Amino acid sequence: MRVGDKGGVTINAAIPEEGRRRFALAHEPGHWLLHADRTQRFLCWQENLRDYDGSAEDIEANAFAAALLLPRPMMFPAHLAALPSLGLIAAIAARFHVTLMAAALRYVSTLEKPVMVVFSREGKIAWWRRNDDQMKGLYGEKAQALSPRSLASAVAETGQPSGDMQPVEWDVWFPHLAPRSGRTLHEQSVRLEHAPIVMTLWWAK
Ligand SMILES: [Zn+2]
Repeated sequence: MRVGDKGGVTINAAIPEEGRRRFALAHEPGHWLLHADRTQRFLCWQENLRDYDGSAEDIEANAFAAALLLPRPMMFPAHLAALPSLGLIAAIAARFHVTLMAAALRYVSTLEKPVMVVFSREGKIAWWRRNDDQMKGLYGEKAQALSPRSLASAVAETGQPSGDMQPVEWDVWFPHLAPRSGRTLHEQSVRLEHAPIVMTLWWAK
C-alpha cells in the first residue's frame, strides 16, 4: 500500500513457512517500484505469487522478488559446477531462505544448464519453466496427463519423493516431440509441502 511517498506491506500471519513470507515481502516492493502508475494498493494472494495464476504485474513482481532474494552473482560460484538435481535446488532454497519453487524457477532460468522444471496438479501438467537458451523448442503440453511411466506420477500417488535423478524415455514426457538425438532425458520429482503440486526437474544430459 502506498500513501504519498511512503509504503507499507502486511503479510498474512497464517503463512507458516519462512520462504513464503520472505517471497511475499520481496514481491510487494516490486509493485512499488514497477507499477507506481497503475494502483496504490495491491492485494496479492498466494496464487498471485505463482506465475501461472498471476497477472502480468504479478509475474513482474515475482521476477523482482526472485532477483532480490536469489542474486545471480551469489548463485553462480557455488552452483554452476554441480550437477542438476532437486537436492541442489533444496540446498539453494536453504541457503537463500526461499521456497523450493522459487529456488527451482531461479535455478532453471539463471544458470546455463539444459534444465526445465514442470509443475503438475491432479495428475496433469499445469505449467513449466525452462532455460530458454539450453532447452529451446522443448515444452510440456499443458493439461497433458502424467504418464504412468513418469516418476512424477508415482510421487503424485504416494506423496513420497522419487529418489535420485533417473533417466526416462523421451516419450514419457514429450510424446508430441521428436527425441533429441545424443541426449538422455533425466527426471526427478517431489511433492511440494504447501500445495497439492508435484514439481519435476528435467535434465537433458
Ligand atoms: Zn502482487
